[in-house]
Amino acid sequence: MSDDDKKGPGTGPTPEELQRGLQELFGKMGNVQWTMPGMNQEVEDDEPEVSDERSADSVFEFNYIPRDIKAHLDRFVIRQDEAKKALSIAVCDHYNHAKYLRSLENEHGKLPEGIELQKQNVIVVGPTGVGKTYLIKHIAELIGVPFVKADATKFSETGYVGGDVDDLVRDLVQKAEGDVELAEFGIIYIDEIDKLATRSEMIGRDVSGRGVQTTLLKLMEETEVPLTNPMDIRSQMKSMMNMQRGGGSAKDTVNTRHILFIVSGAFSGLEKVVRKRLSEGQIGFGADPVERPMDGELFNQVETQDFIDFGFEAEFIGRLPVRVVCEKLSAADLKNIMKFSEGSLLRQYEREFEAYGIRARFEDSAIGRIADLAEKENTGARALMTVCECLLRDFKFELPGTSVSELTITDKLIDGREELLEQYRELGRQVDVEKAAHELEVFCRDFREEHGVELVLTAEALAQLTEEAASQGRSLLQLCRQRFRDVQFGLKLIQKNTGRACFELGPEAVKDPDKYLSELVVRSYRGDAAGTEDAPGDSDSHDG
Ligand code: ADP
Repeated sequence: MSDDDKKGPGTGPTPEELQRGLQELFGKMGNVQWTMPGMNQEVEDDEPEVSDERSADSVFEFNYIPRDIKAHLDRFVIRQDEAKKALSIAVCDHYNHAKYLRSLENEHGKLPEGIELQKQNVIVVGPTGVGKTYLIKHIAELIGVPFVKADATKFSETGYVGGDVDDLVRDLVQKAEGDVELAEFGIIYIDEIDKLATRSEMIGRDVSGRGVQTTLLKLMEETEVPLTNPMDIRSQMKSMMNMQRGGGSAKDTVNTRHILFIVSGAFSGLEKVVRKRLSEGQIGFGADPVERPMDGELFNQVETQDFIDFGFEAEFIGRLPVRVVCEKLSAADLKNIMKFSEGSLLRQYEREFEAYGIRARFEDSAIGRIADLAEKENTGARALMTVCECLLRDFKFELPGTSVSELTITDKLIDGREELLEQYRELGRQVDVEKAAHELEVFCRDFREEHGVELVLTAEALAQLTEEAASQGRSLLQLCRQRFRDVQFGLKLIQKNTGRACFELGPEAVKDPDKYLSELVVRSYRGDAAGTEDAPGDSDSHDG
């Protein structure tokens, strides 16, 4: 230990001394680039501020009973009743327990000896897109704790890097906007946990899978995770500077004791393990060659040993006492999701059309058809988005800007999509006379105010321009502004030569304004009547 190290907070090395020391240290580590915050370079202040200790109740109030939580979930999540119940109970137990321990701690200054801590970490089994994340997200939102989600594969694929798993905890702090105390009550959700299984027939991931299980195990029990990543030199610098500034009392680790861990996966193959065990001694049953997904009934019979046979460490699976199954969704479930879930994506589509002034309405026949198509995709409720996007994308493109203000989505619309889209394209090409007249008025008014010249379009010229605008899917106003962008120069010249201030433009003039004007200008110089009377190609004109 150097002399400097022995100094207490406030009497430590100056920032310059610290920088020198660190420079020496990192110099030995090779090509490490770094700067001292507040010295050579401004470092953005993106690290969450560390909060002071508070009592459990001021961190967040937990006053729910399982029925409240389930009722909340029922508003959004269709089916999965058993999962909703089990999760509601697990969440209440977990937070009530945390609250109890906190109150003991507050009372005695520390946890009294002999208090058992059995965390209610949860394992959720179920295929993709059936609402696992959705359930957990809504629980976290309801009770007001931060929530992070990650895939277990992220940790195994990059090889085993302990810091990675700890990042989940630091992410919680970020989600809690730097409130470490609140982050300590957060929920960490890890999907694809089954990919960490290290079965003998699996090659490749074995080592890292077991390694990640061990690291997660530590987190799930209780450990202190540093607020800054030891591999992240910049944040290390920053926290050192904080200490130098006398911020020594602030918490710089996150305790994981009260963090609720929920892991999930499809666990395909686990059903085989269970069936095999169940069939032992039962002739014929074990020979079932069909791989079926795990259903609630079979799942109720899953034992810890099955998870171990599947490839999990006994200690790891032992830390996940609450087991929940999410069922595969049928077409009827998907239909109910669209009709009854408060988060239904149909509402989202309606809002999106509404933004273009179009009232979209889904009829039951369409909802049924969408559900059938989605079920075939085999990605649960996620497929609803895929199917709707594919079916409705062209309508979202063709309808805005046309006179259509209502879209009723039926099964017929879905089946005869191409034909209908063509009709809408045709409608889009049709001229909205009132709108065109108004846009022309705006254009002429602006032109008059800006250039002091009056423009009048003949009925024929107007029809020609509006049709052109419609066929290009543009507004008449835009087209006029572009087409007559430079005509004021010629018009003003003619005005000077002849005193004419109002110009009526016919079909020839709107077709090729440059040609029309140059002839008119020449004639105005000649002083012939054309500058003031019969313009080339046009029948009438007016004197100013
Ligand atoms: P996973 O089970 O793979 O975690 P998600 O929960 O992420 O699937 O589901 C994806 C989306 O599908 C959700 O955001 C939600 O909109 C919808 N969804 C999935 N399952 C349900 C369900 N049971 N009830 C209502 N919506 C659901």
